[in-house]
Amino acid sequence: MKPDPLKALVTGITGQDGSYLTELLLAKGYEVHGLVRRSSTMERSRLKHLYADEQINNKQLFLHYADLDDPTTIRRVISKVQPTEFYHLAGQSHVGLSFDIPESTCDTTAIGTLRIMEILRDQPHPPRFMHASSREIFGTPTVSPQDENTPVNPNSPYGCAKTFATQMTKIYREAHGLFFCNAICYNHESPRRGENFVTRKVTLAAARIKSGQQKSVSLGDLDAARDWGYAKDYVEAMWLMLQQDTAGDYVLATGVSHTIKDLLETAFAHVGLNWQDHVEIDSRFKRPADAHELLGNPAKAEQTLNWKRSVDFQQLVHLMVEADLHTLDANS
Ligand code: NAP
Repeated sequence: MKPDPLKALVTGITGQDGSYLTELLLAKGYEVHGLVRRSSTMERSRLKHLYADEQINNKQLFLHYADLDDPTTIRRVISKVQPTEFYHLAGQSHVGLSFDIPESTCDTTAIGTLRIMEILRDQPHPPRFMHASSREIFGTPTVSPQDENTPVNPNSPYGCAKTFATQMTKIYREAHGLFFCNAICYNHESPRRGENFVTRKVTLAAARIKSGQQKSVSLGDLDAARDWGYAKDYVEAMWLMLQQDTAGDYVLATGVSHTIKDLLETAFAHVGLNWQDHVEIDSRFKRPADAHELLGNPAKAEQTLNWKRSVDFQQLVHLMVEADLHTLDANS
């Protein structure tokens, strides 16, 4: 008898992580279902190569319309698909923007996650569940590096919403015995990162300035330091989490931090430019209550999941600049 296919349901499938995770799951033979929200355009650039493939679209990959504030539709999709694994990536993912739109950030990221967990709890065979949490739950931590036992202390609406969803994931695991996990993610980047995130803004600026399409880039606090990893590596850890014998929470980080100055130096030097000639400081890009250094300890993920990262900071920045140069070249 043919074994049942592994079925994954992915929220946020059109995002950076969702698109890489989908590629990984398809390569592993999963039937992948994604929730997409209705928008005025059909532009889903990060997934285009997959749903344009006739061997994949509606054969191995299925997209369903559902917004996070529409639990009836989400319930219907879950009941129909009966996934074995559920990857919850959807949400307003920009920390700075969460100060401008705190209500919708909390509605989608906090309550939207709870709604999904309630639906999963009702299923006859609840799938394994991975929630994409964030290092923003630690806010301004008093210890460095942070790990799974660091006390939460969020300092942004985004961080508060993620803290709620993270704690609820843990409560559902402990109180209801469900296989629910948190991936406590530090920043992870790629050529598919949104252009309003600082890494992508810098790599795109380096590529555009090099090709004469831009003169300068405006940034906020150049001394802010971040623990930046590669999105492709992080989605692999998310998958590994759901393959374990027991559910748990894992910090996903590199354990190394770099400043925005390091990022500028690495990106601009790669195209033979001096960043100091092209950067303007704009206080509008400084974030209220920004934690200066956030550094994660990935020891648990490395040891328990046998998780290995494929690139370091310099390789990551270089591959992003190269991808931006390539796209500019292809579009010129
Ligand atoms: P992203 O590129 O911004 O993708 C976010 C996804 O969520 C998109 O598919 C978006 O759909 C979807 N979404 C947003 N609001 C929605 C709503 N109301 N209903 C349905 N879908 C909605 O984010 P990412 O970088 O892939 O991150 C994935 C997850 O990891 C997010 O929850 C993020 O907060 C978390 N995280 C990311 C990082 C990081 O460094 N990347 C670090 C920590 C945690 P549209 O395409 O329609 O906008």
